[in-house]
Amino acid sequence: MPAAPKLVVLLVVDQMRGDYVDKFLGQWSAGLKRLVEEGAWFRDAAYPYAATETCVGHATISTGAFPATHGMVANAWWDRQDKKMVTCTEDPHPGVKNIGYAGATPKGADTAWRMAVPSFAEELKFQTSGGTRIVTSGHRANAATWFDGGAWVTSSAYGTQPFIEEQAKSHPAKADFGKTWSLALPASAYWYDEKSLGAVPPEGWDLTFPHLLGGKTGADDTFYEQWASSPYADTALTELAEKAVDALDLGKTPGTDFLAVSYSSVDYVGHEFGPRSREIQDILVRLDQDLGKLFAHLDQKVGRGNYVVALSADHGVAPIPEDMQSTGADAGVVHLPELEERIEKALEPFSYQKPAVAQTRGSDVYFAPGVYDKLRQDPVAFDSVRDAVLAQPGVAAVYRAEELRDRPATDSPAQRAMAYSYFPGRSGDLFILPKPYWLMDGTPLGTRRSYGAGHSEPYNYNQHVPVLLMGFGIQPGQYFEPITPADIAPTFAALCGITLASRDGHVLGQALKKPFVPAQPMRPKSTSPVASSP
Ligand SMILES: [Zn+2]
Repeated sequence: MPAAPKLVVLLVVDQMRGDYVDKFLGQWSAGLKRLVEEGAWFRDAAYPYAATETCVGHATISTGAFPATHGMVANAWWDRQDKKMVTCTEDPHPGVKNIGYAGATPKGADTAWRMAVPSFAEELKFQTSGGTRIVTSGHRANAATWFDGGAWVTSSAYGTQPFIEEQAKSHPAKADFGKTWSLALPASAYWYDEKSLGAVPPEGWDLTFPHLLGGKTGADDTFYEQWASSPYADTALTELAEKAVDALDLGKTPGTDFLAVSYSSVDYVGHEFGPRSREIQDILVRLDQDLGKLFAHLDQKVGRGNYVVALSADHGVAPIPEDMQSTGADAGVVHLPELEERIEKALEPFSYQKPAVAQTRGSDVYFAPGVYDKLRQDPVAFDSVRDAVLAQPGVAAVYRAEELRDRPATDSPAQRAMAYSYFPGRSGDLFILPKPYWLMDGTPLGTRRSYGAGHSEPYNYNQHVPVLLMGFGIQPGQYFEPITPADIAPTFAALCGITLASRDGHVLGQALKKPFVPAQPMRPKSTSPVASSP
């Protein structure tokens, strides 16, 4: 066995809840099943922090740190200086811009420059000298691409790759125009009613199978939304990952290469149809097939046992509130515009500027400049605001920034979760904790919600995700210790013999083969004289 894996593969399934493995494992026959049977299955893995969102989860998995350390506190936050919302990947540096493959002309400029600590992949490249190649999106990658507005896109910060151009031209998404998504299994195999309650399907689809990828006027935005919400998107991504392995000869250098693939369709489908839907069950059956093909490709090209795989998710998902309500449970929607109105009204008797709230975003309330400093000296006005917020249906608690800063010791799991998500400058001034099964929603009052299910609140349905490890150095089995997805990067680091600067996670030593021998240095022995210590 080599001293270190030839290739590290990180698979992130967007919005895959931990219990999907428990529920649907019996229906899988390929890649997902293989991860469970040949790998280490951590059955009690959960994010310990509050902000269960895409950008936050990806940053946590790739760095091994929590948002309080890596600074990616949400998909988007209020920029107090520029007085506008910024997305976590938005890069304002002059000269940085997104580049489209196959003639596409994407908008914007996206990189990982806002991430405050390097990713595992960057550390791997920096600390070893084996010519590591990185295929992912991170600070510095050899190849990074994502799908946006009907095309494969990258950033000028990463540059382009001929194999992606080739794939974008030979198998564009629009080649799937006119195809249908039908159930893969007999109807009796599905757990839930055909029409999931409260679902909001993409335009052009109703709540029953089959779903036609027909767009409105051809291969238009409606079609690309349908495509992204279908198994065809995951299949295209799998093909692209296989092309990357071949084109870049991943796993063939003297060092360790890195491949990260993020599957997004489960997230689209989950938001639209909710976790209790045939669509979720079916898209996982399809993903199982895609992952089976990917592993077979890696077995052939890199060699079984020469690569290590981790699969996890960036967050889970809550049931659709209307679906939950139908069981008689206490569930609903915390309307953020209503919350803002309540705060403004509570401050009316006091002399504060209007509006006093600059922005609400998820749990975070950002006040206009100076307002929060004034409120902190003004307990009567502050109590008025807090009481108004607590009077809103679905609100369980309110935290102030001072209660979360510097991760204070606390017995409250909710406060601890909020503190792990707090990053000075980017987080809000006040933080709203909703009750379980209540969804924080920013839809303007009087407008219909554009999605069915959501996530981002600090409850287990959002925090519990799979962590599955397989391959080089991994001891198969089921593990019940509570762990977090931040443990993946430190475990990879241990397998590759490198050190992460700022991590919150731990090495999953229980799942490493015994005796565990740390990786040997990959630098070829130098024949030139080396200065020795006195
Ligand atoms: Zn996500």
